[in-house]
Amino acid sequence: MKLLLATNNHGKQKEIRALLGDLDIGLITPGEIGLALAVTEDGATYRENATLKARAFAQASGIWSLADDSGLEVEALDGAPGLHSARYAPSPNATDADRRGFLLRNLAGIPRPWGARFRCVVALAHPGGEIHHAAGICPGEIIPQERGEGGFGYDPIFLLSPQKRTMAELTMPEKNQLSHRARAIIALRPALLEVCE
Ligand code: IMP
Repeated sequence: MKLLLATNNHGKQKEIRALLGDLDIGLITPGEIGLALAVTEDGATYRENATLKARAFAQASGIWSLADDSGLEVEALDGAPGLHSARYAPSPNATDADRRGFLLRNLAGIPRPWGARFRCVVALAHPGGEIHHAAGICPGEIIPQERGEGGFGYDPIFLLSPQKRTMAELTMPEKNQLSHRARAIIALRPALLEVCE
């Protein structure tokens, strides 16, 4: 069986490849099959956005497609950036570093700790319409100084309290034991194994 990873985010692609590498499934990326698809993420929930992406890629490619929709929710900001995590910055050309800076500016003056969680919903869609979902969360806190070189997005300012390390200070195998995405993908594995048979 072949499975299309319905994302152009290289950080997500690498993590999902490592999480599913042991299965007898050929994992392919949109770039590898020359598929350039920009899906408008206008759903009201992570689940709706993951569904939109998985369905769009499945229909365009004709094969099972796996999409992730994820975000960072900061308690002191009433759950922002949440669904808008990928676009959370004043400039449309902002980088991950710009978004981290914007988040920290919005938190300035608010007493710490800045409790937060990452949330992820994954959707596995068949071109014919069959769809499966799973979700995962990872609790932690935002810190004002960046630490670590690994991961992507908000990882350098997301501290895992028990580990006393940021997500960016973990190796990928370590991140893949406890992240929101890992938890969602692990929960999806029974459905994946079933559709692979
Ligand atoms: P989307 O799922 O494409 O809407 O993008 C989710 C956004 O949330 C990413 O672009 C990152 O900014 C953030 N995000 C999701 N997962 C992670 C993660 O594992 N580490 C750091 N940032 C993440």
